[in-house]
Amino acid sequence: MNKSDSERIAGILSHFGYEEITDEKDADLLIINTCSIRQLSADKAYSQLGVWGKRKKTHPDIKIGICGCVAQQDKASIRKRAPYVDLIFGTHNIYELPTLIKRIENGEKVCAITNNPVICNQNDFKIQRKDSVNAWIPIIEGCNNFCTYCVVPFTRGRERSRRPEEIIEEAKNIIKQGFKEITLLGQNVDSYGKDFNDKNITLANLLRELNKLEGEFRIRFVTSYPSDITDDLIDAVEECSKVCKYFHIPMQSGNSHILEEMNRHYTKQQYYEIVKKIRNRFPDVAITSDFIAGFPGETEEEFQDTLDAMEELELDYSNTAAYSPRAFTKAGKMTDKFLSEEVKYERLNRLNEKNREVCLKSNEKFVGKTLKVLVESKTEKDGKIILNSRADNNKIVHFEDETKDVGDFTNVKINKAQTWCLYGEPTV
Ligand code: SF4
Repeated sequence: MNKSDSERIAGILSHFGYEEITDEKDADLLIINTCSIRQLSADKAYSQLGVWGKRKKTHPDIKIGICGCVAQQDKASIRKRAPYVDLIFGTHNIYELPTLIKRIENGEKVCAITNNPVICNQNDFKIQRKDSVNAWIPIIEGCNNFCTYCVVPFTRGRERSRRPEEIIEEAKNIIKQGFKEITLLGQNVDSYGKDFNDKNITLANLLRELNKLEGEFRIRFVTSYPSDITDDLIDAVEECSKVCKYFHIPMQSGNSHILEEMNRHYTKQQYYEIVKKIRNRFPDVAITSDFIAGFPGETEEEFQDTLDAMEELELDYSNTAAYSPRAFTKAGKMTDKFLSEEVKYERLNRLNEKNREVCLKSNEKFVGKTLKVLVESKTEKDGKIILNSRADNNKIVHFEDETKDVGDFTNVKINKAQTWCLYGEPTV
């Protein structure tokens, strides 16, 4: 979501004659788009501001801005730590940027943070997409779930879906520009449409509409909340040939008591059932997940359930993190239950080890199979050109084929599996 926001911010700035440069030493305007999901990313943002602040001492004309979740969370108090910052704007104020830029260009110090999003048709702004193959489309912003560890509902606000017509128009433009993959984004993507008073506006129906668009391209969607995956959504994924057979479904913990403490609205058993239902429908599907190690009060036995879940569910890959207390959250106040850093990181190490083991096993299942892939980039190794591609199920596949280039779809027979990727050869 942050990458997508950055592409939209760069597009808006280009309206004002700003051009992206590669060496930040030549910049007139520096903006850092921040993430506050963990303390480490927030600390990195402040450290980067410090570097720019030093530069401003010798180059007083440069303007410094901060946006994203740290800005939304810390607001004007950012100036206590970084008084040289010219512009602070929140996740809800991106589309106000044209006015904000004029104000800082006139020498004003600006802090624009609202809790009510500034709504506009996003197609009114040019988007500077960074990738030439994949294009992101945010379809829903914010989250209503209030998981006890998560700051997102406080920084991104409540769920707000974009109108389907606006999304379809953006998709048409993307396809016209030659992009081959569209990724629909949302903190809780399968909640799409619930905020409209129209039961026909759902993620499933949006996929069906996008699937009808002409052209050779494929569609993904992230991130799915387990209990919001409906049978209709699974049906839509099956019906739509352009929709990838891939689901990213964060489980967070393999233990029902910890899931309750996290305010996740499903049990371990319910999550297992969802995975089973999807695997029964799509034999080569990949299911990936997220897990937190060392949630406040988590016992060794409860953590063991998470290790078991990763293995029993044969998850294809998982993002893992040690629990990081966040401001405003319920879990952040459970200080008497906090585990030591030593325990959290020891569990995280074991979780990562299990992840590697399970990923390798999952990849080995594809040896001998043929996967349809999209070439995303190429690299040179020992005088050979290696094509780096991704299969529909999101597996990374490397292969050689002089007849193919970035943006091409092709079939590859897998002949070798490693922990994080597959190797293969083109089929004739
Ligand atoms: S569903 Fe995801 S974004 Fe929403 S509160 Fe939970 S972890 Fe945060």
